[in-house]
Amino acid sequence: MKSPMSSTLERILAVPGRLAQGDALTRIVATVGPASRSREMIERLIEAGVSVFRLNFSHGDLAGHAATLRTIREAAGGSGSPVAVLGDLCGPKIRIGRVPDPGIVVEPGERIIMHDRPIEARPAGDGRAAEFGTTLPSLSRDVVPGARLLVNDGQIRMLVLEAGEGTLVCTVTTGGRVTSGKGLNMPESLLSVRTITDDDWRCVDFAVAHGLDFLALSFVRHEEDIEALRSGIRQRASALGLEDFRLPIVAKIEVPSALRRIEAIVQASDAIMVARGDLGVELDVALVPVIQKRLLAIAQDYGKPAIVATQMLESMIESSMPTRAEVSDVATAIFDKADAVMLSAETATGRHPALAVEQMRRVARYTEAYLGTLPAESEAPARPRELRDRTAALAHGAWLAARDLGAACIAVWSQAGGGARLLSQNNFSIPIIALTSDPRAARQMQLLRGVAPLCVDVPEDLAALSRLVDRYVQETHRARAGDRVILLAGEPLGMARATNRLAVIEVGDPLSGFAMRPGAARPR
Ligand code: ATP
Ligand code: MG
Ligand code: MG
Repeated sequence: MKSPMSSTLERILAVPGRLAQGDALTRIVATVGPASRSREMIERLIEAGVSVFRLNFSHGDLAGHAATLRTIREAAGGSGSPVAVLGDLCGPKIRIGRVPDPGIVVEPGERIIMHDRPIEARPAGDGRAAEFGTTLPSLSRDVVPGARLLVNDGQIRMLVLEAGEGTLVCTVTTGGRVTSGKGLNMPESLLSVRTITDDDWRCVDFAVAHGLDFLALSFVRHEEDIEALRSGIRQRASALGLEDFRLPIVAKIEVPSALRRIEAIVQASDAIMVARGDLGVELDVALVPVIQKRLLAIAQDYGKPAIVATQMLESMIESSMPTRAEVSDVATAIFDKADAVMLSAETATGRHPALAVEQMRRVARYTEAYLGTLPAESEAPARPRELRDRTAALAHGAWLAARDLGAACIAVWSQAGGGARLLSQNNFSIPIIALTSDPRAARQMQLLRGVAPLCVDVPEDLAALSRLVDRYVQETHRARAGDRVILLAGEPLGMARATNRLAVIEVGDPLSGFAMRPGAARPR
C-alpha cells in the first residue's frame, strides 16, 4: 500500500509542465533598476509574474524614479493587470557617497579614509590612501576606534583605527569592490540620526504626489517611526486635497531595536519586510532563519502581510540558474507563510531579471501545490483579535465552505481591500479573485498572498456580480462548468465594509450564486 506521502510526490511529479504554468499564490516583488527600467523589460517582468515593483529611493534620483513609474503604469495599463509600486525610503541607513564607475577595489590590509560628507570617492595613488564619502555627518564622533564598518550588506569589512576631524582612518579586513551608494553598517556604534531624514521627506512628497501604492521605511527602530511617517503622509495628502488617500506603510525589520518592539511595530504598520541584508550584519547572520520564522509568525498573528527580502536568488545576478540553496530559500519563505518574496539586485542590476522572476514563480507554484496537499497546513489560524469581526468570520466561513465543497476558487467584492486581506489570512490553496471598482485598492491588494485583484465597474446588484464572476472564472480558465466558486459580498456594492453575504456559484448555471431566486433552489 502506498503512503499518502508517496502519492503526493507522484501527483507533483506527474504534471510538472502544468504545475509550472499559471500564477503563484505567493506574490513577487521586483526591484527596478538600470537592468529593468525599459518598457520592454517591465512588460516581460509583469508577464513573468511580478505583482509589485519596488523603487529604491536609496539609488538613482527622483526624476529617474518618476520616469520608471510612468513606464510601469503604461506597461501595466497595457497588460490589464493592476501592478503595484512600492517606494522604499532610505531612513537612517548610512551609505557610501558617489564612487566613479566601475567602483574602487579595496584589498585586505589596505588603509582607507572615510569622510563625514558624501564626497566623491578617490582611489589610492601617489602614496595616498583611497577616500570615500558617507552620508553620516556625525561619523567621526559616533564611530570609535575598534568599531567595525561593514559595506554592502557586510560583504566588505573594515576596522576603525583612528578618528580625526570629520574623518576616520580604517583598515580593510575583507576586501572587494566598493560602488556608489552601497550601504554602511556599524553594528557596535550608536548613531545620532533621525529615522526619517529631510531626503526621506522629499521622497514622501514624491510618493504622495505620484500616488505610489506602498511606502517602505528602512531601519525602523520603534512604532513611533511608523506613526511619524503616517502623520507626515496624512498632512501631505490633505495639503494636496486628496480625500481618503491611503498609502500603506511597510516596516522594514533590520535592526535589533526593532526586534525588541516588534509587536508594537507590526500593529502600527500595514505590512512588514524581513530585510535580511541589513539584519544579517546588524546581528549574527546565523540568526537570520530563526528571526525570519518568528517575524512571519508574528505578522500572521496580527493579520499583516509580510515580504521576505534579500539574496533570494542572488547568484542569478550573474548566472542564468539559481543555486539549489536559493530555490530552497524561496520555498522556506513560502513554508513559513510569507505573502511575498522579493528580488533586489537580481532584477535591479542583474543579467537575467525576467528569468529570476520566472524561476521564483515556478518554485512558488510547486511549493504551493505541495502545501495544498497537507490538510493540517492549510487549516485557518485562529486570530483572537478578529474573533468578533463580521467580515473575518465570513472569510473563515468561506474557507470552510471552499474546503468542504472542493471549490475551484473564491471571489470577493472587496471595495477597499479589507475583505481580500481577511480572506488571504486563511491560507487558501486556491486563488482569491478580489473585485473592486477602485484601481488604487486593486493595486494595494497585490501584496496579499493568493489574491488576484480585478478592477471592474460596480455591478448593478449581487445577481449581476454572480454572473460576472461566473463568466470571468470560465474565461480565465480558473474554473469550468460544474465547478464551484465561493462568493463573498454585500450590498450596496461599491461601499467599503458592507460585506455580509456568502453564496456558492455552480459555474455555468446562470441561476446560481446570488442570482438564485427563492423557490428556484434545486436539490443537489
Ligand atoms: P536596501 O537596504 O534598501 O535593500 P540595497 O543597497 O541593498 O538597499 P537593493 O535595492 O536591495 O539595495 O539592491 C539593488 C542593488 O542594485 C543596489 O545595491 C544598487 O547598487 C543597485 N542599483 C543601482 N541603481 C539602482 C536603482 N536605480 N534602483 C535600485 N537599485 C539600484
Ligand atoms: Mg536594508
Ligand atoms: Mg538590499
